[in-house]
Amino acid sequence: MSAARPSRRFEPSPRALQMYDTTLRDGAQGVGISFSVSDKLRIAEQLDQLGVAIVEGGWPGSNLTDTEFFIQMRDVRLAHAVLAAFGSTRRPGISAHDDLQLRALLDSGAPVITLVAKSWHRQVRDVLRTSGDENLRMISDSVAWLVEQGRRVVLDAEHFFDGHRSDPGYALRCVEAAATAGAETVALCDTRGGMLPDHVERVVGEVVARFGAMVGIHCHDDSGCAVANSLAAVRAGATQVQGCINGYGERTGNANLCTLIPDLQLKMGLRVVSDQQLRELTVIARDVAEIANVAPPHSAPYVGTSAFTHKGGQHAHAMARGEYTYQHVDPGLVGNRSETVVSALAGRATVLTKAAAFGVDLGDDAALARRVAEEVKQLEHQGYSFEGAEASFELLVHRARGHRPPFRLIDYIALVEQREGRTLVCEATVRVLVDGSEVHTAAQGNGPVNALDAALRKALTPGFPEIANTQLYDYKVRVLDGRDGTAAGVRVLIESGDHHRRWSTVGCSTNIIEASWIALADAFEYALLQAEGRQEGGGALGQSVAEAAAG
Ligand SMILES: [Zn+2]
Repeated sequence: MSAARPSRRFEPSPRALQMYDTTLRDGAQGVGISFSVSDKLRIAEQLDQLGVAIVEGGWPGSNLTDTEFFIQMRDVRLAHAVLAAFGSTRRPGISAHDDLQLRALLDSGAPVITLVAKSWHRQVRDVLRTSGDENLRMISDSVAWLVEQGRRVVLDAEHFFDGHRSDPGYALRCVEAAATAGAETVALCDTRGGMLPDHVERVVGEVVARFGAMVGIHCHDDSGCAVANSLAAVRAGATQVQGCINGYGERTGNANLCTLIPDLQLKMGLRVVSDQQLRELTVIARDVAEIANVAPPHSAPYVGTSAFTHKGGQHAHAMARGEYTYQHVDPGLVGNRSETVVSALAGRATVLTKAAAFGVDLGDDAALARRVAEEVKQLEHQGYSFEGAEASFELLVHRARGHRPPFRLIDYIALVEQREGRTLVCEATVRVLVDGSEVHTAAQGNGPVNALDAALRKALTPGFPEIANTQLYDYKVRVLDGRDGTAAGVRVLIESGDHHRRWSTVGCSTNIIEASWIALADAFEYALLQAEGRQEGGGALGQSVAEAAAG
């Protein structure tokens, strides 16, 4: 990559380039990130939609969430991806067959098993406290046993670049042990994340020259070069690229797949996903951020909310003359959009983009789009965000079309009582107008939102029995920091579902109970809208959001 060297043409490898996502395992190690089983299932679905080849789901047997995730994934049919379970090579001094951890990997049912192995001699001695030869046997035994059991095996050679620097012979013997035992890929890991692209390119080139197109790359971002290092590895012939959505991961994170995928496809001309899948990248990046409950990246390349935003003055003027002036690619290719803050049409375009992204057809009704745009603009100013709350957005469109909600909330009281020597008591009372008559109910819960949910459910179930089939799956609160002129204090996201599907709604307020109440009301209204749609065999909005997204 240095300017002095003559430029080398990239030679396409006979094996297609494989995107390997580890958001659910390495990404989950990021500070402030904690995925529930339900979060993981939703993210796996998104990754499949994005078209990655392999989704690493976690380490079955190491914690209950991951074990449960793999059990639930047995009933999930993925369209593009295959599932990988992550674990380590057998322990020193026992057979692979007797290693309970390896058995748990097998029992997970995942078609691909990714084993992490030491490839830095010093770590074998200091951390594993075993001999270099035993480590090599641990690699070959474990790989061979899993291959014998009919699994595809990826070996993550941990600390490969550090190991290669201090003892290249040993690091290469680790790769050889895995390759000879039948691993389909050996991913070279920059585990400490401190390498630079020219070094990575040279070392990967050496390994590829010796072992062929079975080399993968797994980079961390501690030197700020995870993406650059991964691209350098691909130039040198690596055929598998590991990384995480939004660059989540331990310390400074893993290589960011949301940057890598468009870089590979749009800049290096390597096809890793379809054009349509690439157009879903922005929505997926933001949805995953919402599920992870971290603010979606503002300045992230390609998918950030400000990646193609031009702020007035000279830039806006130049952009009006030609979009190439301040944009390196067409934002539409990655599903993002160019925004100029002075453009009066930005709002309407936003709505059309959002509606299309959620599979809602606004047709040619420009007036409707403008009305919704105004509403969205006002709500976003209050702190709303409809990314990750498709159901609330769909309701907004529906209301703008004149649809009347089947019930109206009049008011509520939520009480929390904590008295010495007694447990916390939460009670909610709600008044709702259903079919012109007032319903007044009360219920208790393990928290004020739970009590409100129960009281509202009690009020609505007699008139709308389908409510009984719905339940609340997840509840998330984000404290807003007042950026972008938002006045609101908190944003609440609620995930609900029934036998058929799940949906997310949003509420915003300076008060957390109020924000929850708004999100809850949307959740119930959406449930009824869907039930109505099913009875009519299609629904007022036609195709459901999830179906549209899946298709
Ligand atoms: Zn890692």
